[in-house]
Amino acid sequence: MTRVPTEPATARDVLRATFGYDSFKGDQEGVISHVIAGGDALVLMPTGGGKSLCYQIPALVRPGVGVVISPLIALMHDQVTALEALGVRAGFLNSTQSLDEQRDMERAARDGELDLLYLAPERLGVVRTQQFLDQLQISVFAIDEAHCVSQWGHDFRPDYLRLSMLHERWPAVPRVALTATAPPAVRREIIQRLGLDAARTFVASFDRPNIRYRIEPKQQPVAQLVQLIRTEHDGDAGIVYCLSRASVEKTAEALVREGITALPYHAGLPAEVRSANQARFLREDGVVMVATIAFGMGIDKPDVRFVAHLDLPKSIEGYYQETGRAGRDGLPATAWMAYGLADVVQQRQLIATSDGDAAHKRLQGQHLDAMLGLCETMSCRRQLILEYFGEHAEACGNCDTCLNPPDVFDGTVAAQKLLSTIVRLRRERNQSFGAGQLIDILLGRRTAKIDQWGHDGLSTFGIGTELAETQWRAVVRQLLAGGLLAVSADHGALGITDDSWAVLRGERTVEMRHDVVTRVKSPSRKKVDARGVPVTRSVAATALGEQDRDLFERLRTWRAETAKAASVPAYVVFPDAVLVSIASARPTSLDELFAISGVGAKKLETYGDDVLLVVAA
Ligand code: ADP
Ligand code: ZN
Repeated sequence: MTRVPTEPATARDVLRATFGYDSFKGDQEGVISHVIAGGDALVLMPTGGGKSLCYQIPALVRPGVGVVISPLIALMHDQVTALEALGVRAGFLNSTQSLDEQRDMERAARDGELDLLYLAPERLGVVRTQQFLDQLQISVFAIDEAHCVSQWGHDFRPDYLRLSMLHERWPAVPRVALTATAPPAVRREIIQRLGLDAARTFVASFDRPNIRYRIEPKQQPVAQLVQLIRTEHDGDAGIVYCLSRASVEKTAEALVREGITALPYHAGLPAEVRSANQARFLREDGVVMVATIAFGMGIDKPDVRFVAHLDLPKSIEGYYQETGRAGRDGLPATAWMAYGLADVVQQRQLIATSDGDAAHKRLQGQHLDAMLGLCETMSCRRQLILEYFGEHAEACGNCDTCLNPPDVFDGTVAAQKLLSTIVRLRRERNQSFGAGQLIDILLGRRTAKIDQWGHDGLSTFGIGTELAETQWRAVVRQLLAGGLLAVSADHGALGITDDSWAVLRGERTVEMRHDVVTRVKSPSRKKVDARGVPVTRSVAATALGEQDRDLFERLRTWRAETAKAASVPAYVVFPDAVLVSIASARPTSLDELFAISGVGAKKLETYGDDVLLVVAA
C-alpha cells in the first residue's frame, strides 16, 4: 500500500500526507508559498474558508516551531488534540496549566519536539515568555482572530495591541495574521496596529454558498424554532443565539421539554458549567447550544448544521460571524432568524439609552440600519450581505427571498394613516404612544385605554380596518426599519422623522412586503425505512442515496463510539464530510480509503482497518 514519507518536504506533500487533501482551497496555496518563502501575510477568509492550513503547513515545512497567538484559551486543548490526531506535534501554553506542565511544554519546544505551539496573547507581556521565545527557532508567527486588535470591530482585546512586538523583537520570523471579519475599516486597523504594511493581503470571497439564509417574522419564536429543528434538523448540531441570559435559559428548557438535546451557555453560568456544556457540544453529535453571543468565537466544530437567531443581531458583521459557524465543512447548512417589531423597538431604544457619545451612537445606528435592511429586503439576502462586505454577487438561489420571493404591496396609504395618527396625537393632544395604542386607534377598537384617553374622538379612529393587527405590526416594523418612524428613548413611543414628511405629503411611495411564514422546502425531510426507522437524520447526508445513507449512519455510530473511547470530539475522528465520501465511495482497501479526501496517513493508520470493517459489514 501507499506509504507516505515521514518527513514531508513540500507544502503539497504535507497537504496530502498529513491532512489527506488533494488540492488547496482558494488562496491557501498562495498564502502558504508566500509565508514559506519568509513573507508576511494578512489573510481574510470567511469562517470555514480554511485559514488553519495557511499557518499550519508553513509551520510544518519551515524549520522550527510555529507560534500561534490565539485568544481562545478554552479551545487550545481541543485544537491541539485535533492536530495530534493528524500526527502533528503540537502543544499550548496558557494559564490553565500547572507550572510543571508549562515547564514541560517549554522544554519540549526548546528541544525541537514541537511543530506548533499555541500561546495566549497576554503571555507576551511577561518577560519570561519573551526570553523563552528568544531561545526557540520560530518558523512562523500566526496571529489568529487578528480583528481582536481593532477597536472599531466588536471583539477588541487590549492584549492584542502587544502583538506589534513580534516583528520588532523577532524581525526575521514571517507573520501571518488571519481573520474572518473583513470590513475595510477593520482591515486598515489590523495592518496599522500590527505593522503589516509590507504584508501581502489575501482576500477571499466571503460567500458561504452552502448556507441557506432565512429570516422569518417572529410569532411564537420557540415554537417556530422547534418546528425548524423537527422538520429539517432533527439530530443535527446547532447553535441558537438569544440576547439575554434569561431567554437563553428559558429557550434551552423549552427545547429540552420537546425532547431536543439542548444546553445553555452564557456569561452568568459558573465557569465549570460553561466549559462542561461547551465540551459536550464539541464532543457529542447532535447537541443544540442555546447561547448569548459570548459563545462561539473560535468554535471550529465543522458540522454545526444550523445557527438560529431568536433576537436581532446588532450588526451584519455580528450576524455574519455568528451564522458563519454553520456548515464549515461545506455541507448544506441553515442560518435562520425570527425577527419582529419588538426587536426593532428594543434595539433602537438600547442605542438611544446607551452611554456612548453621539458619534458612537451614530455608528451603532448605522450598524443596526444595515441589519434591518437585510431583514426587510425584498431581494437576495446573500447579495446584500456580500455587498456590505464590498463584494458584488448575483442573486443566489439559496436564500428565502430567492426561493420564495415575497409578495410586495404599495404601503403608502397605510403608512400615511399611521403617520397622520402620530402627527394628530402630537398636535391636537401633545401625546405620543407606542405601536399597540396606535394600532388600536387605527382599528377602531374600544379598549379601556382608548376610552381613558378619548382616542375615539380622533379623526383617524377606525380608518385602518383593511389590515389586521399583525399586518399593522408589520407596517410599523417596516417603517421603523426604513427610518420613516422613530422610537423615543424612554418608553418606546413612536414619532415621525424628517423623512416621514415626504410620505405624508404624497411625494414618496413606500413598498412593503407581506409577512407570511415562509416554509422553504427542505431537502431533508425525515425518511424512514420499511421498519419505520429513520434512515438518516442529518442534513449532511442529503446528497447520498438511500443505501449509502444507511452506511453513513453506521459510520456515524462507529465514530461516536470511537470518539467516546478516545475522549475526543467526534469530528476529530473524521468530520461528516469525510464520512459522506466514504459512504458513497465504499472503499474495500486501505489504498482506496487513503484516496478519499480528508483521510491522511495518521488517520489511515489509526482507523483504517475499523472503517473498512464497517463498510464491509
Ligand atoms: P477557518 O479557520 O477558515 O474557519 P478551517 O481551517 O477550520 O477554516 O477549515 C474549514 C474546513 O475546511 C475544515 O473542516 C478543514 O478540514 C477543511 N479544509 C481546509 N483546507 C482544505 C482543503 N485544502 N481541502 C479540503 N478541505 C479543507
Ligand atoms: Zn439569494
